Amino acid sequence: MKFGRFTVAAVAVTAGLGLAGCGGGSATPGASGGGTVKIGIKFDQPGLGLKAGADFTGMDVDLARYIATELKLGTPDFVEAVSAQRETLISTGQVKYIIGTYSITDARKEKVSFAGPYFIAGQDLLVRADDMSITGVESLAGKKLCSAKGSTSANNVKAKVPDVNLQEYQTYTLCVDALKSGAVDALTTDDTILAGYAAQEANKGKVKVVGKTFSTENYGVGLAKGDTAFCQQVTDALKKFVSSGEWQKSVDKHLGPAGYKPGAGNPPAPAACA
Ligand code: GLU
Repeated sequence: MKFGRFTVAAVAVTAGLGLAGCGGGSATPGASGGGTVKIGIKFDQPGLGLKAGADFTGMDVDLARYIATELKLGTPDFVEAVSAQRETLISTGQVKYIIGTYSITDARKEKVSFAGPYFIAGQDLLVRADDMSITGVESLAGKKLCSAKGSTSANNVKAKVPDVNLQEYQTYTLCVDALKSGAVDALTTDDTILAGYAAQEANKGKVKVVGKTFSTENYGVGLAKGDTAFCQQVTDALKKFVSSGEWQKSVDKHLGPAGYKPGAGNPPAPAACA
């Protein structure tokens, strides 16, 4: 009996806390009448956009939340935006914006608009820890390479190494598995993403970043093509993200543990909205 009463009391307390938590959440300045906003992020890129159970973490996630709060768009409802699906997710209105290691390019600007850049990365290579034969993009001839469909990484490397044997998967996580199993010899994408994988417990001692970047990737916030008003609001939020110190805090928190240091030009000043 005693035990039973204790259990009931504990449940009541827990429920009370739960409600208090909810109330706090909807009172957040970001929530517009308790609404939600669909935001595209990566789900499998540690340090940038990572889904861990019900939780989402990473630098891109911090920025996604910051913008939702600043612009009072509602509570973020995160949607996975794999590289090849990003333009479609935006142009069909399935997401309001995407923050997912999304490089600003002229080709993409035909279908979507961008606010930013908010970060500058560079394309690099991830190889097995004991591989001494791949030292940069120039040593890829005859090697099996992996990247994500619809990424600038895949397109850049095809242009630079025309005879490369490239496998294109939906996600970089699939490439990491292929690299570890020996199905491919290298994975190519942004150094930010590769640093995150190399630092993951399951990959430690098994893979390494080559450390010779061969592109400039300007990360932007993807949004509906021609929505200049929204682009302007996001740009203002980006500027505040940097000036308030949140940018540095987020970089230190999420990229620091992987030993990643942002390169020259960071944090960049966002361009004017066209
Ligand atoms: N930043 C590059 C891109 O936007 C590679 C990373 C990615 O696929 O998200 O394509």
